[in-house]
Amino acid sequence: MRIAVYPGSFDPVTLGHLNIIHRASKLADKIIIGVAAHSGKSALFSVEERIDLLNTAIKNYEYPAECAVVVEGFDSLLIHFLQEHKAQMVVRGVRQYSDFEYEAQMSALNAQLSNYDIETVFLAAHAEYQSIASRFIKQVAELGGDVSPFVPQHVKSALDTKFNV
Ligand code: ADP
Repeated sequence: MRIAVYPGSFDPVTLGHLNIIHRASKLADKIIIGVAAHSGKSALFSVEERIDLLNTAIKNYEYPAECAVVVEGFDSLLIHFLQEHKAQMVVRGVRQYSDFEYEAQMSALNAQLSNYDIETVFLAAHAEYQSIASRFIKQVAELGGDVSPFVPQHVKSALDTKFNV
């Protein structure tokens, strides 16, 4: 069974993340979306809120029937989370070249830490999702811009609530 972990902050989940999950579901039998509690970034949404937003998003999305998609929070080292779930693959999305530099280094580190047991699969963002980043979405929402082209409707509502729009 090919088990993949798609880790990230997902603060909040965007249509860019959902496109990566959709495409990764063709590569694995199970995808565990790992919501990182300690990503080094200060989060707008709590881990519980981010998990709820993801769960609602994936419920409304269609995946190949043979791929199970689940969401879980984690606060451990990524390779320990993979080992705990018997996962062999990390999925990451790459938008710009600058993403790639960071991602390539992380993937090399995780390979070494796991004794070369774990592979990282990079999926290049499709053109329409390249501009979408959670941190920009939060800024746009806070300043009263329309984020509906970039996030599911329930995420827009959650952002409106956070920023008292
Ligand atoms: P992190 O805090 O680890 O960067 P994010 O929640 O920002 O986590 O993103 C998780 C993963 O999804 C990362 O691999 C990131 O590059 C990727 N990603 C984020 N937004 C997009 C997008 N619009 N298109 C493709 N991949 C994306």
